[in-house]
Amino acid sequence: MRMKMTILKIVNWKNVLKTLGVLIVLAGIVGFGEYRNRQLSTQIEGQLTANTSEIQMKIDALNSTLAEIQSQSSNLGNTVQSIQSNNNVYSAQAGQISAAATTLYKLSKTDPQLLQKYSKVYFLNENYKPANLTNLDPNYLFNKNSALQINTQISSFLTRLLVAEKSAELNLKVISAYRSFGTQALLKSSYKVTYGAGTANSFSADQGYSEHQLGTALDFTTPSVGDTFNSFDKTPEYTWLQNNAYKYGFVLSYPADNKYYEFEPWHWRFVGVDLATRLHNEGKYFYELDQSTINDYLAVTFD
Ligand SMILES: [Zn+2]
Repeated sequence: MRMKMTILKIVNWKNVLKTLGVLIVLAGIVGFGEYRNRQLSTQIEGQLTANTSEIQMKIDALNSTLAEIQSQSSNLGNTVQSIQSNNNVYSAQAGQISAAATTLYKLSKTDPQLLQKYSKVYFLNENYKPANLTNLDPNYLFNKNSALQINTQISSFLTRLLVAEKSAELNLKVISAYRSFGTQALLKSSYKVTYGAGTANSFSADQGYSEHQLGTALDFTTPSVGDTFNSFDKTPEYTWLQNNAYKYGFVLSYPADNKYYEFEPWHWRFVGVDLATRLHNEGKYFYELDQSTINDYLAVTFD
């Protein structure tokens, strides 16, 4: 029994030792594992931290590049805007230069005499003759055989006036148009013979002072009045001219109470639509304006 106990003791001791040994080995393994785990965690953590900060640095660098690009792009935008605004200035300047050039070109093609004031004060050279003359349509003439001529530049304006007047069922006729220096001299001397110099001077200009020499002045009448001009101002044709002639560029040169001649309701002169409209609206007549004011209309008158 004692022996059995001893053997048992020995066996148990061995088992205990074995078990202990196994336990120690296991603990060692577990401990080592734990140690390695910790070590790896620390390594991974360190690696992750390093990677994160590297990525963050890259993000920061990208952000700064982006900001730089945005700033450059905004600078570029400003530059484009400033170029565009310069272009607008240049094109406005080009427009002004071109308008000025057009005006100069028109002036170079416009006869400065056409808006000159003529009367007992202002003189037209005896050699002056309009550059081009056009025959009037005989249907509009008081005497169909009189073969009257006008300055070609006003031809279309006069035709439109006569067509408009006809459509108002009136019967306006042209009795006198362009008169050369010589013709005016002959006419004036015949008036002097018929009426005496004093009377003739009150209604007929001397040669060189007549608007008729320009080819832009016309004498109108109507069959009921005829070639005496008496009471033309009482006719519906005259009333129509007063209300409408300015729309076609014509004005009454010598209205009632003017300082130059007697009232000549039959005598109308082309001065261009703009100037005629101004005179109509202001209730003024051509000879009241300064020549310098009139000259502003020269370039636009014969468009
Ligand atoms: Zn006349």
